[in-house]
Amino acid sequence: MTSHTSQAPLGDVLVLGLGRTGTSVARYLATLPEGRVRSVTLYGGTSSEPGEASRALEGLGVTVALGTDEVRGRFDLAVASPGIPERSAFFRAAASASTEVIGEPEFAYRESPARWVAITGTNGKTTTTSLTTHVLSSAGLSAESVGNIGTNVCDRVRERPQDGWFVAELSSFQLATTRLLHPRVAVLLNLTPDHLEWHGTFEAYAAAKERIFANLDARDLAVVSVDDEPCRAVRDRLAQRGLRVCELSVCGAPESACAAFLREGTLVVRLDGVEHALVAVDELQIRGLHNAENALAAAAAALELGVSEEVAAAAVRTFSPIEHRIEPVATVRGVSFVNDSKATNTDSVEKALTAFAAGTVVVLLGGHDKGTDLASLARAVCARCRVAVCFGAAGERIAAALEDARDTRGEKGPALAVLRAAHLREAFTAAVAAARPHDTVLLSPACSSFDEFSNMAERGRAFKGLVRDLAREGE
Ligand code: ADP
Repeated sequence: MTSHTSQAPLGDVLVLGLGRTGTSVARYLATLPEGRVRSVTLYGGTSSEPGEASRALEGLGVTVALGTDEVRGRFDLAVASPGIPERSAFFRAAASASTEVIGEPEFAYRESPARWVAITGTNGKTTTTSLTTHVLSSAGLSAESVGNIGTNVCDRVRERPQDGWFVAELSSFQLATTRLLHPRVAVLLNLTPDHLEWHGTFEAYAAAKERIFANLDARDLAVVSVDDEPCRAVRDRLAQRGLRVCELSVCGAPESACAAFLREGTLVVRLDGVEHALVAVDELQIRGLHNAENALAAAAAALELGVSEEVAAAAVRTFSPIEHRIEPVATVRGVSFVNDSKATNTDSVEKALTAFAAGTVVVLLGGHDKGTDLASLARAVCARCRVAVCFGAAGERIAAALEDARDTRGEKGPALAVLRAAHLREAFTAAVAAARPHDTVLLSPACSSFDEFSNMAERGRAFKGLVRDLAREGE
């Protein structure tokens, strides 16, 4: 066990949820050394059923209760899975049966509290988390991406080296139940409406994200965007607390002592008045202004932790796109195909479009309709795309919004062609027919995928499969 692993007794612990998070927390608890826990009880919720996971936990001595959300007994601590909304009956039952309810990252933090970088925001979390880990690793530091990116933190606590850094991607769900979490550097990339069905209101969603900074002190660094209004309000509150705030912007050049911004197309990070000019935006392999923002945030975090300017610049330059995030797939007969299946909300599509020359994009939009407002997306698509193919459950609503925006836009450049298709496959065929050499066919759908696929990764792989088939046809 590492020296920064906590030894405090935990008492009777309740775990909520039998998914990946709940299973991993229960396994961690059940395998702690003698004396750390008195009992471990897992409630799976109303729809949970016995299976391999529950039997394996029972084998480790965990008491497993399935098919109910009526929690019985008294617990010192409850660890809730992120899928269970705070407002649900299940969560509330757990809260009244326990001294406190926390989420998995908070639990892992208590078990292993030193050397955390924490990253949140509506969009860009995964990219910034991976990039930060890449920069720290390039400097020879031991660093690992954990959290919402796909690895439960408590699965990594025991293997963590003494001097290892956790770079934790944290969602609003995970942050909603933090209390002691105190990262050395915390990053807030942006705040736009999302996941309102879980949090209830935008204010509750934004407040959950702001908790990432709750325990920072004057020795730490808060990296906060100043490019949107809700983030600027957070920046003001942090500054009032006397924290070191690194103002992050791709729209302007903040004058504060700590800032990360673009100067004549170069990424610049200023920490306590000392400037580091890193690389030109054009040298990045990850495209679009939003990715410059992600790179600035990662570089600021790494420089704060002592990584040299040279290493940070080189690492940012060599970082290549992650799967499903503006991922170049192939060029077929002069048309490039790009998979941005991860763009499941309108803001991320607007950002993605900045990665391509105006008038060269054939964009595929659609999927499960989240009911979000489409006016701003429609204006951006009209301004930057030549063709939009709208498909899936949200297809008709998006097509109508685009036509509305196009028709009220008047004569500001060539008019957008709006096409309709039933599913991704038909949309792809229509896009291929409409594309000209030097165009980009971009899947950046602005919707989740559940009307046709089980998740965004399956949708992205389906798109890449269609591109591969097309390339083969041409051989
Ligand atoms: P997250 O983990 O927050 O979902 P990702 O890094 O996986 O973020 O990126 C998801 C999508 O959001 C990308 O496909 C891209 O279109 C968009 N995106 C990435 N970074 C940003 C950013 N800084 N601001 C706005 N949109 C972004």
